[in-house]
Amino acid sequence: MDDLRLLIDLHRDAARQGPGGDAETELVLSLARVDRSKPLAIADLGCGTGASTLVLARLLNATITAVDLSQVFLDVLDARASEQGCSEKITTLCASMDDLPFADEHFDVIWSEGAIYTLGFAKGVEAWDRFLNVGGLLAVSEITWTTGSRPAELQAHWEGEYPEIDVASSKLRVLEQHGYTPIGYFALPEHCWLDNYYRPMQRRLGQFLARNGHSADAQAIVDAEIREIELYEQYRAYYSYGFYLSRKSDRRAPSSR
Ligand code: SAH
Repeated sequence: MDDLRLLIDLHRDAARQGPGGDAETELVLSLARVDRSKPLAIADLGCGTGASTLVLARLLNATITAVDLSQVFLDVLDARASEQGCSEKITTLCASMDDLPFADEHFDVIWSEGAIYTLGFAKGVEAWDRFLNVGGLLAVSEITWTTGSRPAELQAHWEGEYPEIDVASSKLRVLEQHGYTPIGYFALPEHCWLDNYYRPMQRRLGQFLARNGHSADAQAIVDAEIREIELYEQYRAYYSYGFYLSRKSDRRAPSSR
């Protein structure tokens, strides 16, 4: 099995594939004053098994297109949606976030939790822009330094994993430069990492190794996850996922439209 298949195997049984929380998804709706009764077209990009998709479907009068590169994850999402009686609000689509088949200005909301990093923050904001209505909401979470400086070991690790990791003010500037008006930011609290993501993953690691014959590749994935969790436990004061809420502005320079 290659690494991607192993990663999908590790994460397919999880409620979520990155740090986050149902209450934090709902908090975004409140901060952005999203009208819960208004019919909305929403794209949830990099939806995984649908942690945020299902919250949005439950709380909003929306049609949601949930996009992921993994059909395995989307199958889990489809099953969950039907269990929860919200299938009619959700359409899953197996596609890459940098090659989306939508019409211009098709969506009122573009949502993405813990996934824009796979394109890069600036590249994702730019690539998705044309699909969003003017005045539409862009809600994305992105790993973020929460202090101005940090231990060298931590910085080296995360810059190695994701060179675009930065402080919130830099992310807000990227949004502004792309014609977005920031309307809110918050950092995910610790329970979004530990209770909702890392602890459930730790409980699955043994079965994951057994299922994959304790292969060297599977062990390497487990070692990397354990290292990431240890770093979080040691250095959690210095980083989190930031949730960035912004609206597509109608006051753009003609060249950026
Ligand atoms: N939003 C989910 C999943 C986050 S993990 C949650 O918060 O739980 C990142 C997700 O992005 C994974 O499901 C992965 O399969 C997906 N992904 C990675 N690269 C992608 C791409 N190019 N296009 C679409 N999805 C992608």
